[in-house]
Amino acid sequence: MLPILQRDMTIYSLVAIAHRWGGASRGEQVCNALFGSPGAGLRHDFPSHLDEFSHRTELAYGRPDELALNATVLPYFLRFRPPEVQAEAIALMRGETVEPLKFILGLPAGPSGASMPLCTCEDCIREDKDAHGFAYWHRQHQLPGAFVCTKHGSPVLQSSVRIDGRGRSTLFLPDDPEIVSTSASFITVLQQPLLQRLSILSAAALNSILPGGYSSQILLATYQHGLKQQGLLTKCGQVRAREFVKWLRDQYHSIASLEPFNRIVDECHVEGMLRLVRKPRGNFHSACHLLLIDALFGSWDRFSSVYEWEHQMELPLIFQETPDSEESPSVCENETLVIELARRHKNGEGSVSALSKELGIDVNTAIRWLGKLGLLEIARRPKVLTHEIRAEIIQSIKCGEPFRQISMTFALSRATIDRICNEHPMLHETWRAASHERMRNVERQKLELLIRSSPDVTIAELRRAKNSGYSWLSRHDKEWLKSRSPLKTANRSRLVTKRRPRVDWSMRDHECLSALKNLEATLRFDDCERLKPMVVLRKIPNLSFSPRLDRLPESRALVIKILERAEGRRDK
Ligand SMILES: [Zn+2]
Repeated sequence: MLPILQRDMTIYSLVAIAHRWGGASRGEQVCNALFGSPGAGLRHDFPSHLDEFSHRTELAYGRPDELALNATVLPYFLRFRPPEVQAEAIALMRGETVEPLKFILGLPAGPSGASMPLCTCEDCIREDKDAHGFAYWHRQHQLPGAFVCTKHGSPVLQSSVRIDGRGRSTLFLPDDPEIVSTSASFITVLQQPLLQRLSILSAAALNSILPGGYSSQILLATYQHGLKQQGLLTKCGQVRAREFVKWLRDQYHSIASLEPFNRIVDECHVEGMLRLVRKPRGNFHSACHLLLIDALFGSWDRFSSVYEWEHQMELPLIFQETPDSEESPSVCENETLVIELARRHKNGEGSVSALSKELGIDVNTAIRWLGKLGLLEIARRPKVLTHEIRAEIIQSIKCGEPFRQISMTFALSRATIDRICNEHPMLHETWRAASHERMRNVERQKLELLIRSSPDVTIAELRRAKNSGYSWLSRHDKEWLKSRSPLKTANRSRLVTKRRPRVDWSMRDHECLSALKNLEATLRFDDCERLKPMVVLRKIPNLSFSPRLDRLPESRALVIKILERAEGRRDK
């Protein structure tokens, strides 16, 4: 029996669970059955024989290449490598030996070395056991540099089994006693926010493709843009080497002793990062890229949007074919169209996107053409989070400004503002208190203004009025609302005068009765008229109210008497 492949689960977990469920005595037996090889499924990083595995499981878990990309950590290592390396790596995992794979991925010589400890998160273990009945290894936890669980924020525990050669033929699961007893993690308060950011970036590198695919040229252009924003480029576009190295060292000194960052940013290695931003030669471990991305852009989204922009700029200048056009227009015609677009845009006939749609041009292509032809200032590249901007954002958060407002002011995504807020302990609390106070002042002002402009306003009117501040204040600021004494007295006096007087039913009964008595002598019923109280009442002229007989006993008695008499007359 085989388990379902859960979200972010590794093939190794799948084999280990199958082993537990099947009751085979040795792991090799399960691997033989599933992979046709005793050792293939025992590798927890890069299993081999995936062709055979897919064949034997009748594609229940997908094609071999899908398995390599969705159920192993391979994509993390391939994210910043050309497509041919990906093809080569997958070919090895499909085949019978993965020995050359680490060499191809540059791992033995790379900063993380060849060691890949089994890693887990205690909260994930608990949740997985509750949800599925078993715990499994998550791909995200296995990445070098993933020290924090991106789901729970708890430390990722690294087990020492398998590192020293022990348990090479054992299929472990995260809640095994051997794993728990050897797991440890040492994260200081200083390291926590940094490691959390890098763990989120590692997960993004595992799961997100680069817009338009990998290109070393576009990647370099993206980094250069980030460096320029940080003031780390000279006017001629050269990297300010000494500043760059110091800048990196300052940012990452607190984690410079942790594997794999020790081989990237400690004193002996940090200068090596210069190669990554000059003319990159040789292979760089994904962790190098992720450190640089963190330093330059702060988040994967920001990096990715700059990369996408650079990718757009690299595209050849041809228009996308529209589905209904029989022939795609020539470059010359396109130029005419773009000039037409620029003219109409200048005349205020519509936005670039609306006009592009009208003229049948792809909007991105149109914008790039407008830029190239100098007809319109091209859209700006996304802003990069510098230290100055970060400090200003923190100040705005401390003042309790709404996040949406901050995000608009600094042209940064909501997620970025959230992240900055979460990086600093207690900042969210400070924001909450300040935001409450801001809100309270705004709502109080609204109410004061309304009362000042119409002093006779009643509480009921305030309650009904939109944007009077009353509703918020009645929930959050009751004491102050009560203490607004003019409001209170104004309302009370209005309420008293406005109150409707009680109905005097005996008066009404009296009035109705005398009207009936006046009517009684002359009252006649046509033959077609039904003899009902309402018919009698309708014949009374000029009552100051509409009579309700259930509240007027004497009138009621007389009406009944009149009707009885009329009935008696009809019967004769
Ligand atoms: Zn977790």
